[in-house]
Amino acid sequence: MLILLLALVCGFATPTLARPVKATTEVVLTRDGDGDWLLEYRFARVAPAWFFVRSANALDGKPWRPQSWRVETPGVRLERIGHHDVLTGDGTPLKTVRIRVRPYSDPVQADYQPVLAFSDGGVGVYTDHHLAAPLSTIAAARDLPADLNGVAFDQVPTQFTLRDPGKTLLFNGRRHRGSVRLMLDQHQSYVYSGPARALATPAFVGIIDPGLPAWARDELNRFTPRLFDYYTARLGRPAGTRPTLLASWGGTTLPGVSLGGSVLDGMVVMNLEGAAMVDPQPALLAQTRWFIGHEGAHFWMGQTVRTARRSAAWMTEGAADIMAVRALAHFYPDYDARGRLQKSIDDCIAINGSKPLSGAFERGEHRANYACGAVLMMAAEGAARKRDPRADLFTWLCTLIDPNRKAGVVTPDHWLTVFAASGGAGAEQVRSFLDRGMPDPAAFIAELLEANGVAVRRDGARVILT
Ligand SMILES: [Zn+2]
Repeated sequence: MLILLLALVCGFATPTLARPVKATTEVVLTRDGDGDWLLEYRFARVAPAWFFVRSANALDGKPWRPQSWRVETPGVRLERIGHHDVLTGDGTPLKTVRIRVRPYSDPVQADYQPVLAFSDGGVGVYTDHHLAAPLSTIAAARDLPADLNGVAFDQVPTQFTLRDPGKTLLFNGRRHRGSVRLMLDQHQSYVYSGPARALATPAFVGIIDPGLPAWARDELNRFTPRLFDYYTARLGRPAGTRPTLLASWGGTTLPGVSLGGSVLDGMVVMNLEGAAMVDPQPALLAQTRWFIGHEGAHFWMGQTVRTARRSAAWMTEGAADIMAVRALAHFYPDYDARGRLQKSIDDCIAINGSKPLSGAFERGEHRANYACGAVLMMAAEGAARKRDPRADLFTWLCTLIDPNRKAGVVTPDHWLTVFAASGGAGAEQVRSFLDRGMPDPAAFIAELLEANGVAVRRDGARVILT
């Protein structure tokens, strides 16, 4: 007891050195009238120039910020210097800058669209586009390469506040009222702000643009929560925040139909648009369900557990493909699961051929990771079912995901170990297929699937699911 007491006292008595607190830049984005926003910077310190870390060009090859941002602070300019957008002070060091923003809601080159526009005035703001870093001289901006990976520059902690009084804000799976505050460069994500009611279940939260044609809106409202509830019921909660979907409607200006989307930390965003969408489009409906099914699967196979190397992308892409197939078949009995899986087999043989699957990413043969990954998952699923008729894809995936949740990483070794432990036949051949390639890929796939209880027949160079 005495020792414990002493220890406690010592603990209290130990002097602690005050940690130096790094000065923080504060950025506030506030909704103003007429669709405009005000963006205010209070920089952590004075500097002759601050450059924007993410400075992609618009699709027309010109920087997007000057098309959207107008600096109101006298003597301050926004200019393109080298590869970056830069705020300069014409000789006066910058401390505070005020900018009027007309949201830029078009895609940009190789980066996230700055703003997702919803038809009711709601917005999704990609927050990291507001991250700026100081320069000791304006001329130093010329020397910055476009890709800052591995480049030393002064990374100043930056607090970002989005203020939209009276509106619902959604960030990191949580709803906020009127404003939200976060640190930049820590979440690869959008903040939603607008009048729409969030669609929420314990497993999912989403904003579905109320302006979408009714058939598409109804479908997203119905399908998405059920899909996430299903994945969660089968695989447990995903790591991190509650999965979020932002689905915006781009209107009918474009002819035809278009579906675009991307995946971020804990979030899927998609944009639907096109004049032909006014009438129900069965093909687009199927494409939309597939997109959400595949991308939603990555909250488990991709974010709850990820692969350490891109050479192992077959694990996450193959699993996401087959999870989408099984989920769509669960909800829609007329869904052509067999056709989709057959395409995986055909594409795997045609694209990966006799090459090692682990090299597909480097070779730029990305489709091989999806297709061959799905084929390997079919073998795993077959093995699980062979051993226990009540087992299915999801029970097998639990045995892969759950032991690795803490580390958050799965490797091909984990996959092969779980495969062999679940009674999978041919683990050594799978390893050869990954690392060295198989001289006759069709023979390998036919044998692997047959040995694991998936019925197939050979038809020349093809392997056909029966
Ligand atoms: Zn994917």
